[in-house]
Amino acid sequence: MKTIDSIDFSGKRALIRVDFNVPLNDQFQITDDNRMRAAVPTIEKILSDGGSVILMSHLGRPKEGPEEKFSLKHLNGHLSKLLNRDVLFAGDCIGDEAREMAGKLEPGQVLLLENLRFYKEETKGDEAFAKKLAELADVYVNDAFGTAHRAHASTTIVAKFFPEAKCFGYIMSNELASIDKVLSDTKKPYVAIIGGAKVSSKIDIIENLLDKADELIIGGGMMFTFIKAQGGKIGNSMCEDDYLETARQIMSAAKARGIRIHIPADAIIADSFSNDANTRESSADNIPNEWLGLDIGKNSIKKFGDVIENAKTILWNGPMGVFEMSKFEEGTRSIAEAIVKATRNGAFSLIGGGDSVAAINQFGLQDQVSYVSTGGGALLEYMEGKILPGVKAIEES
Ligand code: AMP
Repeated sequence: MKTIDSIDFSGKRALIRVDFNVPLNDQFQITDDNRMRAAVPTIEKILSDGGSVILMSHLGRPKEGPEEKFSLKHLNGHLSKLLNRDVLFAGDCIGDEAREMAGKLEPGQVLLLENLRFYKEETKGDEAFAKKLAELADVYVNDAFGTAHRAHASTTIVAKFFPEAKCFGYIMSNELASIDKVLSDTKKPYVAIIGGAKVSSKIDIIENLLDKADELIIGGGMMFTFIKAQGGKIGNSMCEDDYLETARQIMSAAKARGIRIHIPADAIIADSFSNDANTRESSADNIPNEWLGLDIGKNSIKKFGDVIENAKTILWNGPMGVFEMSKFEEGTRSIAEAIVKATRNGAFSLIGGGDSVAAINQFGLQDQVSYVSTGGGALLEYMEGKILPGVKAIEES
């Protein structure tokens, strides 16, 4: 892996693709700065080598050119605090201003460029646009794992203008090393926990896991497609009828390969999709009409906990229930706690995918697992065995 530690940045200008796509409130204040904080070690390494840094990112989804609410200038003050130094800002990511400011950078200085997606050329992967970005610097560093599955100008195309001077930043290399730990040479037993709303969005990852995991735990809304596929009565619970056959195929493939697949036997059911609903425990395959399952039940929590605590490698993607509502968070919380316990006992645990990350943060357990991935779509595609264009662009010469 071409990591940042293999380059001496002394006297060099580094162009870093960061993921500063952070949420802002109505006053343009940052409400969650995790992505910015995560990039600090990469920036610091270059500055302490005696290099200078040019940061480029997207923010939000601007439609037609510049939009005030998506300007990266709103991030500048906070970034200066995080880096403990003034950060310069160029009001355009290419053009005269950016070129002049980049050209004048002294060692130790940091320049933040305006939102890349103010140009359609960014998401189109336009080569001329990528070349203009490349002209700003001597070295290219990709530290935006969350967009590594996109062949955009700043994530992929730009790399070709730095054939001898490109590398991954620390976020990227940590992500890749951590995901590789659940993809190859895994310590056994390997338990994969897949939840969330839909089977349809997790098919590829489940199929990939059938080659790797020893035990597969299924929870969340998608469990009801599996339960119905086996003839269960699921009331009004979430179900994808088009995927009943797929669910059956997954179960028989798992059986044929000797993988134990765990589907909840009990559930917390509710008479409406609401935190004020009436609730009760029920067997998961005998839910009355008009009621719907919104969390896994006590027996499943106990059984899944035992399986997880015995694991040596754990992948968790997707919540066990509607954890955003306090009445239905118990299953997801218990699974998170079991993962923490297993990690304390020496297991490697990777939490990935937007909603399981939100869940582990909600429970305050994010520091007690081995790795929390920052990349939703990128993580899934990498796990499915796809080659990420942003990764390939750095690795190929
Ligand atoms: P995903 O993005 O596919 O991982 O799905 C995450 C979403 O699934 C979360 O917002 C959960 O509230 C939702 N979810 C989990 N369990 C259920 C369930 N039993 N019924 C409906 N939605 C669920």
